[in-house]
Amino acid sequence: MDEHDLTCQELVELVTDYLEGALPEKQFKRFEQHLSGCHDCHHYFDQMRYTIRLVGRLSESHLSSGAKDELLSLFRDWKKELPEQEKPENLEE
Ligand SMILES: [Zn+2]
Repeated sequence: MDEHDLTCQELVELVTDYLEGALPEKQFKRFEQHLSGCHDCHHYFDQMRYTIRLVGRLSESHLSSGAKDELLSLFRDWKKELPEQEKPENLEE
């Protein structure tokens, strides 16, 4: 795997660490790099940030591995169910 290229799944796994400022600088940069170039993750990230703001601070105890799996399956479902034409189109071509 290219160590400079975060996958969408990796981003999902890192999103809470990112929001808590717990990512090492290297990971932090890769995270932002992927986020700025990936519509799906950007949309997902906005939703996560919004959700966390509603729920309050997401502590480590909330983020069991089960919760991570749940997030990942939510993310997959979301990508699956979102019709192509309703995806946000912000790319300038
Ligand atoms: Zn992505």
